[in-house]
Amino acid sequence: MATLNARKVAMIGCGFVGAASAFALMQSGLFSEMVLIDANKEKAEGEALDISHGLSYAKPMQIYAGDYKDIADAAIIIVTAGAGQKPGETRLDLVKKNVGIFKSIIPQISEVNKDAIMVIVANPVDVLTYAAWKLSGYPENRVFGSGTTLDTARLKYILGQHLDVDSRSVHAFIIGEHGDSEIAAWSSANVSGIPINDFCEMRGHFNHDESMQSIAEDVKNSAYDIIEKKGATYYGIAMSVRRICEALIRDEKTILPISSIQHDNHGISDVALSMPAIVGKDGVEGTVPISLSKSEEEALQASAKTLKDVIDDVGI
Ligand code: NAD
Repeated sequence: MATLNARKVAMIGCGFVGAASAFALMQSGLFSEMVLIDANKEKAEGEALDISHGLSYAKPMQIYAGDYKDIADAAIIIVTAGAGQKPGETRLDLVKKNVGIFKSIIPQISEVNKDAIMVIVANPVDVLTYAAWKLSGYPENRVFGSGTTLDTARLKYILGQHLDVDSRSVHAFIIGEHGDSEIAAWSSANVSGIPINDFCEMRGHFNHDESMQSIAEDVKNSAYDIIEKKGATYYGIAMSVRRICEALIRDEKTILPISSIQHDNHGISDVALSMPAIVGKDGVEGTVPISLSKSEEEALQASAKTLKDVIDDVGI
């Protein structure tokens, strides 16, 4: 096995999400080398050229289309390859197709590189994270999914708009499945330490239950809405991928709601789903025990069951 190059990233899958993420990573200045792999080699070559042509206005790095042998020394491997969600299709509908693709991709990765950190983005991300963990033989801390980082960003954005405040001052998580059974953890939500309902009242909003329900629905339906309008979502997830890479490369120990294998967390084990977790140079350091209301905890357990049923159905 090759020695890892800490400044090298690999993008497996260069469709809408892979290309947008590669573009965001190029702009981040975090890496000095990026290899793009796609079943459609010409697509990877085209994206590598197009993104490279922006380098004169960014920071120097090598960007090229490659093969699995080229990822042997990549410190971070991002997997976005898979079929996209079609209008009206749920993420879980995609499962069989994309597990099949993973059965081909993941062993090719672990054959050449057993030491990287693997970040799964393709959907259904929680099931595929579990599949990637099983198929790769990687330890749990080094294979995780983007999980609800995107949904959480959407929640912060929508709450920021609702309350007319910088979304970065909003502290709130979407947890559980990245999908229909996800949960907005309202009981711990706050704006700069001020409990969410108190802050809402400061900003003239008093209809808490109705607002929380409608904001959580908006978050959940964002992907369907965008896919209906433009066919795919990719800029928001690209920024989530960039944020995850920043936390890894800079050993930030940032708390992000990534999808990782759970161990007796609110009674949930042996499934990958999103809970706030500490992310640093070794990947997932551990989850953070946020307190949940009884109904949130029940919804989380139901979300875990939904995912486990899918894992059992597919036979991972
Ligand atoms: P896309 O169809 O544009 O791109 C998929 C790419 O994967 C294609 O270029 C295809 O050639 C490639 N591919 C397929 N099989 C491959 C294989 N065996 N090896 C290498 N490459 C292969 O789709 P997209 O819009 O980029 O979405 C990609 C995935 O990301 C989907 O599963 C989508 O649902 C998911 N997604 C996840 C999030 C998230 O928050 N986790 C957000 C948006 C999209």
